[in-house]
Amino acid sequence: MASKRHVIVGAGTAGINAIRTLRQMGNQDPVVLVSGERPYSRMVLPYVLEGGISEGHTATLSPNQLERWGVEMRFGLRAAGLDTKAKTLKLDNGEDIPYDSLLIATGSSAARLPIPGADGAGIHSFWTLKDARGLKTHITPNSHVVMVGAGFISFTILNGILQHAGKVTIVEVESRILPRMVDNAGAEMTAQWLTARGVTLRTGARLKEIAQSGDKRRLTFADGGTLDADVVVMATGIRPNLGWLEGSGVKVDKGIVVDDHMQSNVAGVYAAGDVAQGRNLISGASEVHAIEPTAMEHGRVAGANMAGEKVSYPGSLLMNVVGVAGLEIASFGAWDDASGEAIVDVRKQQSSYRCYRFQGGRMMGAILVAPEGEAWRGNDLGMLKGLVQSGADLSAWKNFLKANPLEIKQVYLAARTVSGLLPRTVLGRPSSAPIA
Ligand SMILES: Cc1cc2nc3c(=O)[nH]c(=O)nc-3n(C[C@H](O)[C@H](O)[C@H](O)COP(=O)(O)OP(=O)(O)OC[C@H]3O[C@@H](n4cnc5c(N)ncnc54)[C@H](O)[C@@H]3O)c2cc1C
Repeated sequence: MASKRHVIVGAGTAGINAIRTLRQMGNQDPVVLVSGERPYSRMVLPYVLEGGISEGHTATLSPNQLERWGVEMRFGLRAAGLDTKAKTLKLDNGEDIPYDSLLIATGSSAARLPIPGADGAGIHSFWTLKDARGLKTHITPNSHVVMVGAGFISFTILNGILQHAGKVTIVEVESRILPRMVDNAGAEMTAQWLTARGVTLRTGARLKEIAQSGDKRRLTFADGGTLDADVVVMATGIRPNLGWLEGSGVKVDKGIVVDDHMQSNVAGVYAAGDVAQGRNLISGASEVHAIEPTAMEHGRVAGANMAGEKVSYPGSLLMNVVGVAGLEIASFGAWDDASGEAIVDVRKQQSSYRCYRFQGGRMMGAILVAPEGEAWRGNDLGMLKGLVQSGADLSAWKNFLKANPLEIKQVYLAARTVSGLLPRTVLGRPSSAPIA
């Protein structure tokens, strides 16, 4: 077969996993990797802020490895346009790169609130290595850090901020923290834990403006209230990097709409990771899941299909797990689907909350908020994920779980969850060690 030229845009988790899979499958076609940044993991940036790892440890692949795989590297350049008829990718330096198959894996960017002062000095986002570097140098033990947005990203960096700053306030426009990750009861348990550890929470607070006030940043809210900060972190959501696709004919909804082979509406154009809108494993709906495991799986499935294999993706499991000041907060699958039956366990004294959501005998989603010791004792977090992911029939165990909500291990083992999950590799074949 004549060789094809694969062009990958984006060197994050999705792009790198696609290239690894292409080579793992023995495909030796030419690969060009175009990326604004070099390959590194965003997920470990909170540990750079905490000081637990150096910047060097964020790298996911070295140029040597990419060279060994025969990948032509075009770092520091950005895709600026796409001509799907001529099959060329336009770069921001004016160059056109022809392709036979193209993977769009450009991830997402931090989105700031559209308010006056949001781009001023001392206002930080936390999405890139550069952002992590910038924030770290600005926080001192005397700093009052105000975090705007009480979502997942805010919580991933909270340990690092608590470690370096004198005072931390989190402001959130919704009436509770973590509105897209846990339910009311889970949010309340988390709020109590944080408040007891000196974090100030201000919910229902609509930020209107940020202005310089002496050497401070003054935040003004819609109700007229104000708050002075030394450092402001805007963690107010993300948006997929898709602007450059305008006029290309590639179908975009919330992300690039892909089929189960990660192919877009244009033959030969694939998408993976934060930019892709693909199947939700639990509901079957078409959704963007901007999380690391989805980017990895999308990338692998896209790479396999670009290599000429017909691999179908069963869908991604929505999950968020974050640890803050010794409290683990996690949700899996359809945790917010209130249409089915719920098994709820609240133990305020222990700061522990669980909610298991069922449709018939199947656990469709789960929330767990608990101190580290409880959450990881016996790996309850991993087992809950397995129960939701496997779709095991737990009809015979529901009454047991109602009476013993902490006895996850017994249910996990009885449902033979491991043997249900083991044969299900993303590529539908026995797993092998990743190639280096
Ligand atoms: C602080 C932080 C903590 C996180 N923690 C977790 C976690 O604990 N668990 C979890 O599941 N997820 C976490 N995430 C989310 C996770 O990192 C992302 O879902 C994942 O990185 C998505 O991978 P991706 O390959 O789609 O995109 P990215 O990793 O964002 O990679 C996109 C690549 O495309 C490049 N690019 C963008 N636009 C262009 C362009 N026009 N031309 C060329 N190149 C371009 C970028 O430079 C980058 O190299 C975290 C994210 C952050 C920021």
